[in-house]
Amino acid sequence: MEEYVSVERAVELIETHVRPLPAVRVPAAEAWGRVLAEDVSAPIDQPPWPRSPLDGYAFRASDSAGASEESPVTLRVVDTVYAGGWSGAEVGAGEAVRLMTGAPIPAGCDCVLRQEDTDLGKETVRIFKALRPFDNYCFAGEDFKTGDTLLPAGVRLTGNAMGILASAGLCREDETLSVRPRVRAALLCTGDELVPNAVRPLPPGKIYSSNEALIAARLRELDVELTAVSGAFGDDGAALAATIRTAAANADLILTTGGVSVGAKDILHETLPLLGAERVFAGVELKPGSPLMFSLLDGRPILSLSGNPFAASATFELFGRPLLAALEGCEDRLPQVFPAVLDTPFAKFGRARRFVRGIFRNGRVTLPEGHASGQLRSAAGTNCLAEIPPSDAPLAAGSAVNVWLL
Ligand code: AMP
Ligand code: MG
Repeated sequence: MEEYVSVERAVELIETHVRPLPAVRVPAAEAWGRVLAEDVSAPIDQPPWPRSPLDGYAFRASDSAGASEESPVTLRVVDTVYAGGWSGAEVGAGEAVRLMTGAPIPAGCDCVLRQEDTDLGKETVRIFKALRPFDNYCFAGEDFKTGDTLLPAGVRLTGNAMGILASAGLCREDETLSVRPRVRAALLCTGDELVPNAVRPLPPGKIYSSNEALIAARLRELDVELTAVSGAFGDDGAALAATIRTAAANADLILTTGGVSVGAKDILHETLPLLGAERVFAGVELKPGSPLMFSLLDGRPILSLSGNPFAASATFELFGRPLLAALEGCEDRLPQVFPAVLDTPFAKFGRARRFVRGIFRNGRVTLPEGHASGQLRSAAGTNCLAEIPPSDAPLAAGSAVNVWLL
């Protein structure tokens, strides 16, 4: 086990210890949101035939040589083709075909002139512009050709990807795709002081568990299925071990909050050995939430976050998202990091790298009041973690920082 590792080392350890979930086959039409586990190749050309990108006339470019407003060339119109139509015409010298956007370009033509550069003639058309071969000519297979990789393994099936599949005729119930399944997670929030929201009035010494609602909502936003949730698990190491073992049967990932620090009731130190879990790292050089731990139970990841709500939230973003990225084999779950200018000075400083809540907009980041890890209210409306580097002085407004987008 490694102890007190850097943020980067922690992410690297997660990435090297977590493999993508075994692929499953699902009907393509229902695969939205999943990550492809194999390349998908194109069964057809798209477009399937040369296509007109505009409303106008198709002809041979050589026929338009020298054409201008002053000296138009006149061509004989032999057919009209609309989108969805098909012309069997073999267009010869001196001939043109009237075409609408999306119509197939008939054989013999090698260019399309927009109708604004013609007199819009019906029997014959006067053209006012000379074209080169393949001007305004959209080739068959311009988007993709039969056998091309339509979508590579590792891509998430977003709206664009679903549109690409459909453009190849693959978005069907009877067409199956190999994808990573939706990640299933168990979430167990520990602490004898916690009670669920159903309890009212609040008994002495108790608080409402906020981590359950916070992390569960975040997991849902990231399209993770929750298979077991407890918002108020007592500080009983053996009971937690038993619950984790049961939950692991239906979960690809186990998240716990609380009980990772050095207090007498910090039960994860008892639970993880009881489970026989492989400890990968314990402690990360950051604030808040430094005592977090990462272990594996028969290869299944267990991410144990510190219980303070903002610490749990921040470390979920920094380490839970790389974990999801590794399970799905798709980088889009990783937090994106941008350079920003700090609009608000930040008074706390020290040897620890610190991640604080902020609002990032147009390259600038504003910090709210209230940064203790037990304070959650000021996180409302924030959209990033601003990274405050180790320092022996407060950070002034105008300083350059990195922001990690949520
Ligand atoms: P722990 O990580 O168990 O040492 O807890 C650190 C602090 O976070 C304590 O003040 C706990 O009461 C608080 N805490 C732990 N879990 C939760 C939770 N689920 N909701 C709200 N506060 C919590
Ligand atoms: Mg506790």
